[in-house]
Amino acid sequence: MSGCSMAAMQPSEPFKDFKISSTDVLDKVLVRSPCPKCSKSRMYFCYNCLVPVEALMGHIPHVQLPLTVEIIKHPSETDGKSTAVHAAVLAPDDVILRTYPDVGTYDPEETVLVFPSESAGSVADACAAFAAARRPIRRALFLDCTWNQCRRLTSDERLRGLRAVHLRAHHTRFWRYQRGKPRTHLATVEAVYYFLRELLESQQGAYDGEVDDLLFFFDFFYRTVYRARGAGTLWAYREEQQWTRPSDGPPSDVQ
Ligand SMILES: [Zn+2]
Repeated sequence: MSGCSMAAMQPSEPFKDFKISSTDVLDKVLVRSPCPKCSKSRMYFCYNCLVPVEALMGHIPHVQLPLTVEIIKHPSETDGKSTAVHAAVLAPDDVILRTYPDVGTYDPEETVLVFPSESAGSVADACAAFAAARRPIRRALFLDCTWNQCRRLTSDERLRGLRAVHLRAHHTRFWRYQRGKPRTHLATVEAVYYFLRELLESQQGAYDGEVDDLLFFFDFFYRTVYRARGAGTLWAYREEQQWTRPSDGPPSDVQ
């Protein structure tokens, strides 16, 4: 371990105690196959059509969410790289992906924007406020973009009036190098997952793993990348909690 960096070793199985369905079915997928909708060659799912490959249809979790999740992607973000697709494939009834400027019209009395703006409050506070107004939170919006792009999106008049909420600090397990980002900068599917977890905790008083399967692909890819890189050393952080070196990228099959 060098003097200038502290290697923060990542665990081999950070989601071991989560209620995630067996990913054995993914181990059996050894080659790419045509997407059932667009016929493009895909490994596990198609990130354009948001469906699994035929061999996995009916064999991956189908997660029901307590509200509608909309993820708004900046047009310059690449489709195939975003973990937002995991949420859309695993919870197809409740997740909508959009590319800005395709944004809906949202009722501020039933919508929250999950974004750490200066005015953002906690998920628990938002739950209490909506409950006091006797209005359930029906929709949560997430922004899938860099910080600067996000600032621009949040000033869009269709999003500006929405109540913003921030998450508690959770450490990311994302394997992709994100220059200058703190450890609490979550991948999109992690942000969706932790938001729902905090929401259910607030609403039910406890969380019982209801949406853990949203991390079905994330957990599998994490373990795959961990094995490929060896002991997770490429996740090393500086003491000021920034990524220390660029990664060699995940194996090409990891979407
Ligand atoms: Zn497709």
